[in-house]
Order: sequence, then C-alpha cells, then structure tokens
Amino acid sequence: MIEYHVYPGGKKRIVTFSYDDGSSKDARLIEIFDKYGVKGTFHINGKKLFGKSEEELSAFRDRYKGHEVSCHTLLHGWPSRMPPASLVQETVEDRRILEGLFGMPIIGMSYPSGSYNEEVISTLAACGIVYSRTTKSTETFALPECFLEWHPTCHHNDALSLIPEFLQNLDNQWRNPLFYIWGHSHELKTEEDWQMMEEIVCSLANNDKIWYATNMDIYNYMTAQRQLQISYDETLFYNPTAIDVWVEKNKTDILCIPAGQTLSL
Ligand SMILES: [Zn+2]
Repeated sequence: MIEYHVYPGGKKRIVTFSYDDGSSKDARLIEIFDKYGVKGTFHINGKKLFGKSEEELSAFRDRYKGHEVSCHTLLHGWPSRMPPASLVQETVEDRRILEGLFGMPIIGMSYPSGSYNEEVISTLAACGIVYSRTTKSTETFALPECFLEWHPTCHHNDALSLIPEFLQNLDNQWRNPLFYIWGHSHELKTEEDWQMMEEIVCSLANNDKIWYATNMDIYNYMTAQRQLQISYDETLFYNPTAIDVWVEKNKTDILCIPAGQTLSL
C-alpha cells in the first residue's frame, strides 16, 4: 500500500503564508520571512504596476525574490459579480502584466474579496489558473480537496492560538499536514502588529520536520506525486516529473523517487 502523505525530504508537515494586494508593506513582511527562512505567496493586482518607471518595476520585482508571485485580478473587483467575459479579461490581463515583469508563467491566484462561485471557478480554469485561495478559514490543517477552492487554515490574527496544536505530535501522526496562514501586510499597522507577525513566523520556523513552501510549491509537489507510475506489486516506481517525490509504503517505509528516475525495491 502506497500513501502520498510525505513531503520533500520525507517531512510530514507544511507551512505556507499567503498575502494579498501587493502592498509596499510586503517588503517588511518578506524581511521577516527571509530572516526565519519561511516562504510566502503574494497575490498581486496588475493595477499596482500601472505608471511605474523601469526602476520602480525592477525594485518591485526584486522585492518578491525567493517567494511566489500570483494573480489577484487586474483591478480587484468581485469575481462572483462579474460577467464571465469580464472575469476573463481581469484574469488574463493580470497574468499578462505579472508574467511580463517576472518572466515566468503565473498561474496561481487568490480570490479578491474572497468572492467566488462555481461559474467563477470554471472561468478561472479556462484562463489557465490552477489554484485559487478563498478567505474561508477552516481552523484545521488539511490539504485542499480542490485547488481552485483552497481554504486557508486561518487569518494571521487567529494564528498564534492554533500553533501549539499544529506543533504537537509532529512525529507520530499523519494528520494536520498543512498550516496555511493568510492576510494582508497592510493590516499590520502598529509595532505590536508586526511583533505578533514575527512571533507567528518565529514559532513555526527552523523546524526540520516542516517543509516551508509557497502555494505553488505545494501544488507542483502534490501534482507530481500523482504522476508517479507504480508497478502492480509496488516494487518499481517511475517518476516522470522534474521534482523529487516521496511516498510512504505499508505505513513504515519512506521512499524517495528522484526526478526522472526509476526506483526498484
Ligand atoms: Zn485583495
């Protein structure tokens, strides 16, 4: 029996941070993330880049180095109140601007104002978006059942009280895999707010049992795991992807199948 619940390095837990709107305060938040070695995803409205000089654009690009940049629509409307054709423009134009600046495919997203419905989900999928975060806190540590309806654990204001539960039993239970914290850096207004944020990051950081990942890292890893080709008797494993993946066999053995290779037991 093979189970997927193992993450890079054979780890059992994941922590990710997700921040919306592309505020200039993202720079200070990223300083904290970098100080503690955690990863964030930053969901940005293309309108933030209107009228910027080459120098400003280059500074904007540098701000997010080492983290993920993701879509948040061009103008930050309410997707569930838009005709699909308008949402298509809002999404692809955001992608066009961000991809032009960052020089890579940008296919993740978070819902502006948390607004979505079934029609929004299918429209985004048609625009090439592969995941999108909602604002519905689960207060659990579950992996997403549907990447285009990716519910976070909680807003950062509610994170501190959930940390002890997450850090319990890091070794002996295959549960509580993902702590997903979201917010806006522009909500961090006072020095006390920033202290709270640093305490959240510090409490979760530097733990060798936790994988610190962007939203897209998680999507890519989970997607790669499901592309593993496994022989009937579960002794041959071919990994056709460019990402090393890990699985668990018979609840005891952790197996690593390197990118592009076949593992033979
Ligand atoms: Zn927003």
